[in-house]
Amino acid sequence: MLGVYIHIPFCNKICNYCDFCKILYDSDYVSKYLDKLEEEIKSRYKGELVKTIYIGGGTPSSLNNDELDRLLSIISIFNLDSEYEYTIECNIESIDINKINIFKSYGINRISFGVESFDKDICKILGRNHDEDMVFDNIYLTKKYFDNINIDLIYGVNDNIEIVKSDIAKFLELNIPHISCYSLILEEHTKLFIDKHDYIDQDKDREMYEYIKDTLRKNGYKHYEISNYARDGYESIHNKSYWLNGSYYGFGLGAVSYINNNRISNTKNMSKYLDGNYKDSCQYEDIQTRKENDLILGLRLIDGIDIDNYNNKYNDNLLDKDIINKLLNDGYIEVINNRLRCKDKYLYLENYFLEDIIGSEL
Ligand code: SF4
Repeated sequence: MLGVYIHIPFCNKICNYCDFCKILYDSDYVSKYLDKLEEEIKSRYKGELVKTIYIGGGTPSSLNNDELDRLLSIISIFNLDSEYEYTIECNIESIDINKINIFKSYGINRISFGVESFDKDICKILGRNHDEDMVFDNIYLTKKYFDNINIDLIYGVNDNIEIVKSDIAKFLELNIPHISCYSLILEEHTKLFIDKHDYIDQDKDREMYEYIKDTLRKNGYKHYEISNYARDGYESIHNKSYWLNGSYYGFGLGAVSYINNNRISNTKNMSKYLDGNYKDSCQYEDIQTRKENDLILGLRLIDGIDIDNYNNKYNDNLLDKDIINKLLNDGYIEVINNRLRCKDKYLYLENYFLEDIIGSEL
C-alpha cells in the first residue's frame, strides 16, 4: 500500500504555536510553487498504484479557486486504487461552497479541519481566526457533501479543564466521525515560545487526556491511536500507514518520503525548492532503525503490533528481546491476542518509555 503526501506551505495568517513548514500566502509564489510541484511529481512518480493521497500544509484551502483547480489537476496524475482515501486539510475560515465543489469534482473524499478550539480566548492565544459560529456553519455546510470529516483539537493551552469539556461537547454536537486531539507543544521559534507561554501542570494535562479518552469512547468513538478517535470505518487510512511504518511519497516543500527503506527529506528552503533543488537529504534505514520504527510507531496504535507479522517480516522473535521483556515486566505493555500493545493506563506516558527502545538490541 502506497501513500502520497503533498505539502502546500501557504497560510493566510501564521498561528502563534506553529512549527510547520509554512509561509504567508502570496499569489506569485503559489503560481511558481505549483509549477515546481508539478515538475517534482513528474520527475519522481513512476505510475505506481496509490491507496491514499493527503494534501496538508500549511493551509491548502488558502489557495483561491483557480489555484486549487490547478493543484488538483496536477495531482490527478496519480494512479489511484479503486478503494482510495483522498484528504485535504482546510481551515474553517477559508472554506466555501465553491471550494467544496472543486474538491468533489476531483474525487476528494475526506476533509480535515484545523479547528483547535471553539473557545474564543483559546483561539486568541493560539492565533486562530475563527469563532464558534463559523465552525458550526462551515462544518454543517461541508457535511452536506462529505461524510468523512475530521477536526483537530488542541488541549492544555491553559489549565481550565471546563474549556476542554466544552470543546469535546461541541465536537459531539457536530456529529462527525473523526477527531485528533493533541496537547499543546511549545516549539522553539514560535510566538508562544518566545512570549514564554508556560506548559500546564502535567497532572492537569493528564486529567484532560483521560477526560477526552473516556468521553469519546463512551460516545462511540474507537480510540485507535494515542491521539486519534474514529467511528467505525472512519479511521484515517493514510495516517495509519505512517504508524504501520508503510511506504509513502512526500512532494513539496519540506515533505518527507519513505520509499524502499530510504527516508528522503525535501528542502525547507523556498528559494531552493523554486530553483528545482527539491531534495535536502536521503538516509538509508538499516534493519535496526526499521525495527525501532516498527515498534515505536506501531505501539502508538491502541491495538498494537501483530507479533506474527513482525516476526515474519524480520525472521525474528519479538518476545525474545530484552527490551520487550523489560517493558512487559515493568507492566507498561501487554500481549493480547498475539498482539503487543501498551496498557491502557500507560497510554498517556507512552512517549516516555518508548524512548528506551531506541538503541536497544533488537
Ligand atoms: S494554519 Fe496551520 S500551518 Fe498555517 S500557521 Fe496555522 S497551524 Fe501553521
